[in-house]
Order: sequence, then structure tokens, then C-alpha cells
Amino acid sequence: MARKLVGYGLSGHFNGTTFIEDKSSLEHCPNCGTRYDLFTHNPNYKMGRKRRGHLFYTYDLIPIVTQPFKDFVWENGYAGVSFLPFKRDLERFHLIVENVIPYDWNVPELKLDEYCNICKRYNSVATGTDDRFVAVNAPLDDGFYRTDLFFGHGNNKGPIYVVGLETVEKMKAFGLKGIIFTPTFGLGDNGRETDEKPKIFYL
Ligand SMILES: [Zn+2]
Repeated sequence: MARKLVGYGLSGHFNGTTFIEDKSSLEHCPNCGTRYDLFTHNPNYKMGRKRRGHLFYTYDLIPIVTQPFKDFVWENGYAGVSFLPFKRDLERFHLIVENVIPYDWNVPELKLDEYCNICKRYNSVATGTDDRFVAVNAPLDDGFYRTDLFFGHGNNKGPIYVVGLETVEKMKAFGLKGIIFTPTFGLGDNGRETDEKPKIFYL
């Protein structure tokens, strides 16, 4: 039974900056050192030089988006998406997505390492594959989601952001650029039928 496409994972290029340089003052696990809140905002962050594209990641995996990206979300009225501002960079925002979907822990490629007994999290998490797998039974509704599981290592860790199939088409039509879309599969066969295996693509 082939798994069917339910959405696309979003990613962007690294922008050469770190969102929070000194994390020592943030509340963190005394055992593994990973901060508890991986979404802590830094209003003083500045991305620096202009780059083309509407979605970038810091080294500590915070998604930074542009005013047009925000306009796109607002025009479509997507719920559960917010944009935290920066004092010194009024054209960019820290993307926050509150619609949580479960990552599929049963995918054999998933790599979970260095479990911390204190904070009950894995220090090192990787998909182990170019594809993404979520434990949902049907194609995602038009909108933005994030996985419950955080990928990466230590403090450089974040969820996978996923959009619905219709959302991808709207993003294309809106002219958003610099975004990498990764096929995301659901459980079983309740998804879009595809003649050939969906591939990563880039706007
Ligand atoms: Zn820990």
C-alpha cells in the first residue's frame, strides 16, 4: 500500500545568522542543556544583508519570513499563524505556527538518538529520508502546520513546517520565492493519488 501525498514540508536556505547567540540565560534542561522553549523570540534579531527569497532559517532553526510572506498568510486568512516583529528589521518576522500535526514515529528511517531522561526529549533527531511522514489520515486542509517532533541537534532544533496541497498552489500563484517544498506523506492510502513519486521542488 503506497502512502499518499497529504502536503508539502517547507524549508529555506540558512541565512548565516544565529537567532539567539547566547542561550545560557534561557531556561534549559540541566542534563542535556537544551532550552525548554525552542520558539523563544528575540526582538533584537537582525538578519542583515538583503537576500532574495521569502523564507530563511537561522542556524538554530528559527524560520524568518518577509512582509510578502506575511501578506500572503493574512490575505488568505490562515488561522494559527503569527508573525513576531523585530525592532531593527521591520521587513522581516519570526514565523510562529500553532497548528500541530504528529510526525509518524513508525517510519523506519526516523533517527532518534541521545534520549534525555530528564526532559524526556531526544537530543538528536533526523528524518533519515528526503521525504516527510506525518500521522494524519487525509490531505491537510489549506493552511500551515508544524510537526510535534523537533528535528536537529541540541539547541539547533525545530519542527518541520508543512502546508496543504492547495496552499502550495496559492504560494506559487502569489509569487513567493526561495522556498523548498518536500513531499509529505500521510498514513495509509487516504491521500492524493500520484502517477509518479512526488519530488522535492523549489520556488
Ligand atoms: Zn534534557
